Amino acid sequence: MSTASRQTGFSCPLCDAAGFTLLETQADWLSRAAGTADERRQIGGIVAADPDLAFGGIVRCRECGLATVRTRPSPDALGRFYSAYYASASYGTKRDKKIKRAARRVRRLSRRIRSNGSNAKRRFLDVGANLGYAVEGARQRGFDATGIEIDAEAVARATAEFPGNSYHATTVEAFAARGETFDLVYCSEVIEHAIDIRSFASALMDLVAPGGVLFVTTPADGHRATPDPLVGWVQVKPPEHLHWFAKAHLLRLFDRPDFAPRFRFNPKPGHKLVLRRALH
Ligand SMILES: [Zn+2]
Repeated sequence: MSTASRQTGFSCPLCDAAGFTLLETQADWLSRAAGTADERRQIGGIVAADPDLAFGGIVRCRECGLATVRTRPSPDALGRFYSAYYASASYGTKRDKKIKRAARRVRRLSRRIRSNGSNAKRRFLDVGANLGYAVEGARQRGFDATGIEIDAEAVARATAEFPGNSYHATTVEAFAARGETFDLVYCSEVIEHAIDIRSFASALMDLVAPGGVLFVTTPADGHRATPDPLVGWVQVKPPEHLHWFAKAHLLRLFDRPDFAPRFRFNPKPGHKLVLRRALH
């Protein structure tokens, strides 16, 4: 298996190891997807029609145990995938419910922010803001609220609907390079979509102000409620999702001496990770 992995150039996005265990081939996943009545059927159809989206199967790294795709797509190919996928997706459902849920989360998380003594309005950033609902929830909780999102169409719609907030069409890495920081950085169900998880996680941490909080959620591998086998789970839908993290993988990804991680209890198979950045 490790010989095969070197030939196809597998390299673990978390630990760089080349050895993997194959969990399911792409062909088997595509026939599985075709037999579902959920979004996997549509995703499978898009993947089958575009050779640039070939992911070569779902694998587990032999070194660190991360479940991930064998071949990660290029940003261009992934962009085309999202254009095709979102063209028919049910965008913008449950709007008010989503704003309220985000406002509740923001209220709970904001208690964990340590004040730096400034009287300035506290700043919120949603990474992967989609149609801007969480940003609006944060604004309603008194934050100066910003959202970033790769999909320019979603950004245009969010800006039109919530003109009091600030939305940018950009990547987290490019946005972090501007040097701004935020008291609460929120990233819900996004990191599993990232091609380069290490640069993504590092940029997220750079965006957190001293004393601030980073909140990350993602589907959980290794949770007692996670379906077995993993590859049969509705959350395993490459290339929309590219990685499935166990707790240890997130701890490794967000391992920085100025951040203290804590997992919130979740009865469902999803991680809710709260990382507090030291004040000094
Ligand atoms: Zn690994």
